[in-house]
Amino acid sequence: MRLFGKEPVRMENSEIARVFFEIADLLELKGGDLFRVRSYRNAGMVADGLPESLKTLYEDGGEDGLKGIPGIGESTRTKIIEMLETGGCAFHRELLTEMPSGMLEILKVSGVGPKKAALIHKELGVKTIDELEKAAAEGRIQELAGFGQVSEEKILRGIKDLKSRTQVFKLSFVTPFALSFVAWLKKVPGIIDIVPAGSYRRWKETVGDLDILTTCSDARAVMDHFVKHPEVREVVSMGETKSTVVLKAGLQVDIRVLEKKAFGAALQYFTGSKAHNVAIRDRAKRMGLKISEYGVFRENGQWVAGEKEEAVYAAVGLPWIPPELREMRGEIEAAEKGALPEPLKRSDIRGDLHVHTKESDGTYTLEQMAEAAMKLGYEYMAVTDHSKAVGIARGLDEARIMAQMQAVDEFNDKLRKQKKKFTVLKSTEVDIRADGTLDHPESVLRKLDLVVASVHSGFSMSMDEMTKRVVKAIRTGLINIIGHPTGRLIGEREPYLIDLAKVMAEAKKYNTALELNSYPDRLDLNDSHCMLAKEKGVLVAISTDSHSIHHLANIEYGIHTARRGWLEKKDVLNTRPLVELMKILKKK
Ligand SMILES: [Zn+2]
Ligand SMILES: [Zn+2]
Repeated sequence: MRLFGKEPVRMENSEIARVFFEIADLLELKGGDLFRVRSYRNAGMVADGLPESLKTLYEDGGEDGLKGIPGIGESTRTKIIEMLETGGCAFHRELLTEMPSGMLEILKVSGVGPKKAALIHKELGVKTIDELEKAAAEGRIQELAGFGQVSEEKILRGIKDLKSRTQVFKLSFVTPFALSFVAWLKKVPGIIDIVPAGSYRRWKETVGDLDILTTCSDARAVMDHFVKHPEVREVVSMGETKSTVVLKAGLQVDIRVLEKKAFGAALQYFTGSKAHNVAIRDRAKRMGLKISEYGVFRENGQWVAGEKEEAVYAAVGLPWIPPELREMRGEIEAAEKGALPEPLKRSDIRGDLHVHTKESDGTYTLEQMAEAAMKLGYEYMAVTDHSKAVGIARGLDEARIMAQMQAVDEFNDKLRKQKKKFTVLKSTEVDIRADGTLDHPESVLRKLDLVVASVHSGFSMSMDEMTKRVVKAIRTGLINIIGHPTGRLIGEREPYLIDLAKVMAEAKKYNTALELNSYPDRLDLNDSHCMLAKEKGVLVAISTDSHSIHHLANIEYGIHTARRGWLEKKDVLNTRPLVELMKILKKK
């Protein structure tokens, strides 16, 4: 094992974001002011989503370089400078002396919010996940006020889930590293192909590690350059044509340099899924062929194909199958019949139907969000700020939404005068209350172009109750789209219990679409839900739930999740041109 010495590293956006998120969690554990908690969490989100490096902005422009970033106020800016200068934050360290760092880990257990965690800490002296597990196993949690046997069992299950999740990363966490390695490897003289394969290439929502495949005349140069990537913490192995490193962030990255002749076969092999590859190999066997990572061969060892992935599939009598479909969900049979879905394209998407502004918990104005949406080539965008029930997000009451509608009308008039072909839709993300009623009066909802309705509270209902709640909301006939229909946050919060088949049956009757929320922590509907929606004939709206102009690009995650779910252009609501969209929206 070789270790590469590193100079002291100054903090990157993601590390700064992590400190802000931890400060927010620690303040919340202490029972601190919720608005202060929110401002740190918000600063974390902004730092995380910022395309420019804070380090570079500060190096180039000093403190002024950091001014004007929405969501970063004076106090958080001072802390960013402190972190860039010193590599740490005194306030963060101070909070950690008051609250053990193991408590942050405990917050990741589903079913344990900050209030519960603080109580368990205070009453039982629990400081770590292991202590929490012990206390729950010994039945000491259920004796606390506000807990019972059910919540104790839920905590035990949550701990088990959390432990089994370790070493699995969210796709959006892995993406920047994948892109960074591709850019890094491009600098190697003579390098030709650089493709990250594996579940990353299939756009699976979680990724275990990164497998990069390359071709190059000088394999040694690729190996040498690869291990010097600045994010590398440890070089696990370094060979002639294959190396493995672990990044500071904990992610493992493997690289292989391949013969040009075998690149397609290796790409097919290392993209997976395992189940898909087993089926392809069996099919080859039946045809008297053998497929491996080195190529397709006849029984006598004669080489048939391998340079291109398409040729590997062609050798077994199939068209090329897009990586997102390689999950053994019928793709081989469909390929055989020429019935693979037509892959949804970025250019098929005509607009975004879930966008927040400063009015609620977004960080930009209506005008700024619209400008950003226009730059993406969209025809329309729906402004969907929260309703008043979501108090922490400064949800809009009746008076404020009426004022916003007027602002949208005026803005659209302005666009028309400028001959711009872009329309902002008057909309809302109205809360579905616990009893299934909606958080805006019908008179308001009828004035809007589009109504998105979502659940934001009371996640612990039984499946029956939750299903009834959402079905009741759909039956008002006022809803165009159900937002993030299961409420899950990947790796953080399990979906609430809901019978999606029943919800879809009702949605179909009332001409209501279901959302595929592209926010990378959500991806909700997920891929298999999309398949179900298609089967039930329910339209899917692929939206971003953007809280910043930088989030609009997350639509890519939604598009690829939709592709994993076999959705085509016709299955997606916001592939419609404006006129057609408005017709569908009116039929609620
Ligand atoms: Zn929402
Ligand atoms: Zn939202």
